[in-house]
Amino acid sequence: MAYKLNEKISELEPYQPIEGDYPIRLDANESFLELPEEIHKQVMKNIMDVDFNRYPDPTAKKVCRAFADFHSLDAETVVASNGSDEMLSILISAFLMKGEKLLTIAPDFSMYNFYAHIYENQVVTLQKDENYEISANEIIESAKTEQVKMIMFSNPCNPTGRVMSREEVIKIVEGTDALVVVDEAYMDFCSGSVIDLADKYDNLIVMRTFSKAFRMAGIRLGFAVSGKRITNAIKAVKSPYNVNSMTQAAAFTLLENPDEIRSATEKVIKSRDYLYEKMRGIQAKYPKKISFQESFANFLFIKTDNSRDVFEKLKSRGIIVRYMGENLRITAGSPQENDKLLSAFEEIIKG
Ligand SMILES: *Cc1c(COP(=O)(O)O)cnc(C)c1O
Repeated sequence: MAYKLNEKISELEPYQPIEGDYPIRLDANESFLELPEEIHKQVMKNIMDVDFNRYPDPTAKKVCRAFADFHSLDAETVVASNGSDEMLSILISAFLMKGEKLLTIAPDFSMYNFYAHIYENQVVTLQKDENYEISANEIIESAKTEQVKMIMFSNPCNPTGRVMSREEVIKIVEGTDALVVVDEAYMDFCSGSVIDLADKYDNLIVMRTFSKAFRMAGIRLGFAVSGKRITNAIKAVKSPYNVNSMTQAAAFTLLENPDEIRSATEKVIKSRDYLYEKMRGIQAKYPKKISFQESFANFLFIKTDNSRDVFEKLKSRGIIVRYMGENLRITAGSPQENDKLLSAFEEIIKG
């Protein structure tokens, strides 16, 4: 008499973001901007009108149409989910048969491998080079040799901040029969999207999220954009009421203000560029101590000696960044947050 957890879950630990009262959070790549008061009020008003006793619209039609309009897409090519995390889970669970192979690239977003593990799929992982680059050809070749059924990667990449060119992504899509899932969670902060092509290929899915540029990590909303055959399949396998009514109301309200969304995104890009320039200044003073590349997302990925120590020292000053082995991933914050981070960082690096 003893129920045993199966081996795929017995060793897992719940995801534990750093908790506690830290005045500066630069660890989760959220937007540092809150919604403007007017839009916030309108969101609250529209949530008041929600029929709480009724199930939500199962396909979040209004939101999908507004999101499609925002990107000049056909609304039929968009499916919404409870955060893009849910969509990743849906795609891996439904589009791969048990044991079929997923190709991922390292370093990349850890959830891809995580879901593949939960759904008992095999993972083939290719390593990027020391500049965090990998060629389309290498991916295509490996997909062929290993007979993978799905290729999944983020572009721009979390955590490296690097972006693969649109031409390279197209080359991958055209060079394989596998389903290619391009997670564009950070594509609002740069160019090179293939979202406009999702309807043109029968093996491409482009993922987007409301958690980063759209400033709404709290409502949990993600999207998959793909051709109608795949869109239909996703709708058929997702749980029917996956996006709740309050999320739909909030997202729709924000999407009624496309210019405001774009100007907020611009502010985040400015913040990232500021952080980058100032960090280059610190590096010029201590060239041996840190190294990093230009980022195309809303964070920097910085290699430093004793990264654990730097992380802990920042933390003790009330600043949380993401510790990732030899690297720290630092989200672009408000001007004040950036300045506090930069001066603390320099002091710590100086030693
Ligand atoms: C933040 C992030 C997401 C967004 O996930 P949500 O569940 O929509 O919050 C997806 N992919 C990557 C690579 C991310 O960094």
